[in-house]
Amino acid sequence: MRTDLTASEAQRLILDATRVLGPETVAIPAALSRVLAETIVATRDLPPAPNSAMDGYAVRAADLAGASAERPVRLRVAFEVAAGAHVAAVLAAGEAARILTGAPIPSGSDSVVRQEDVARDREQILVRVAPLPRQHVRERGEDVRCGERVLEPGVSIGPAEVGMLAALGRGVVSVRQRPRVAILSGGDELVELGGDVGNGRIVASNSYSLAAQCRELGAEPVHLGIARDDPEDLERRFRAGLRADVLVSSAGVSVGDRDYVRPVLEKLGCTLVFWGVKIKPGFPVCFGRFATGDGPLVFGLPGNPVSALLTFEQFVRPALRKMTGHQVLFRPLVRATLAERLEKPPGRLHFVRVELERRGSQVLARSTGTQSSGALRSMTLASGLLIFPAEETLLAPGDSADVQVLDESFFHSSEPGF
Ligand code: AMP
Ligand code: MG
Repeated sequence: MRTDLTASEAQRLILDATRVLGPETVAIPAALSRVLAETIVATRDLPPAPNSAMDGYAVRAADLAGASAERPVRLRVAFEVAAGAHVAAVLAAGEAARILTGAPIPSGSDSVVRQEDVARDREQILVRVAPLPRQHVRERGEDVRCGERVLEPGVSIGPAEVGMLAALGRGVVSVRQRPRVAILSGGDELVELGGDVGNGRIVASNSYSLAAQCRELGAEPVHLGIARDDPEDLERRFRAGLRADVLVSSAGVSVGDRDYVRPVLEKLGCTLVFWGVKIKPGFPVCFGRFATGDGPLVFGLPGNPVSALLTFEQFVRPALRKMTGHQVLFRPLVRATLAERLEKPPGRLHFVRVELERRGSQVLARSTGTQSSGALRSMTLASGLLIFPAEETLLAPGDSADVQVLDESFFHSSEPGF
């Protein structure tokens, strides 16, 4: 087992051990936010036939050469074509067909004039413009051609992709499975929500925050409950999580007398890859895997609520994204300007919980207050985690640093932008 790793060494070891999950087939409404696991090749042209982009009249461009407001050209309206209609009629010279948006271009015609460019007079129109051939005609296959690759594996499926699949007639699609994450809280002081909080007992809030982090990513949390500070109870509960893709426990990984997580994991056949990463908060995080390759990846997170959230964020989240088939594994980064002075000793990378504020073209970062790893409030206030590099000791006001943006509403705007 390795110890005293840098954050990037730890992350590399985790990602090297992480495999992309297999595919499953889902109905397209359920494919939203999932990762595509197949190549989508168009089996039809879109649009399927030339059709009108406007409400107006299908015409023969040659009939209208030289038409203008001063010299409008008169055409006879021979028939009408609505969207979805089948037209057998053929447009002859000197004729126009009333046409609506999305309706097929009748044979014989090669162009559409907008109704705004026409004066209607019973069964005749006066056309005031000379259209180019194919004007306002959406050609067959101009969006997608039959046989073309339209969506590639690894694409994250958003509303447009769902629409494209529907347009191509695909009711189901192959996507990456959602990782199942077994979550365990450990400690004699912990109770379930609604339990007795006398005598210094506290709610096992980590079970809830870690499950929420899973759900936010599209992973599926499975609760293993609260283990007592007792190796047998811990072992029994860990066993219940061995069929998950990932096992996450919080607390009991430090060097206290009752920190049994590491010995129990080893007893179950888990090989600990590392324990102890030079970060703050979250130093005592550990990571293990099963040599046979069919057990879950195992993360022993520290118990302090901020440490648990933060080590999940840095180590579990990228692994879950990789499993889910995502190509981009990390949060957005912004370069922020410090609004206040930050100091620390060298040796560990600090994740400073910060509020972000846009000031013109700059992003200002200021700490959310106490940085104690027990102060959950510092996380509720934080829109980002400022990276205070391991060997740096001072960040002065006006200095800049990278911030991982946790709260995507930071990118939301009170202005529409138009
Ligand atoms: P430990 O890692 O067991 O030393 O726990 C560190 C701190 O985290 C202690 O103050 C625990 O009470 C607290 N803690 C442990 N597990 C949880 C949990 N599931 N939810 C909230 N706090 C916890
Ligand atoms: Mg404990």
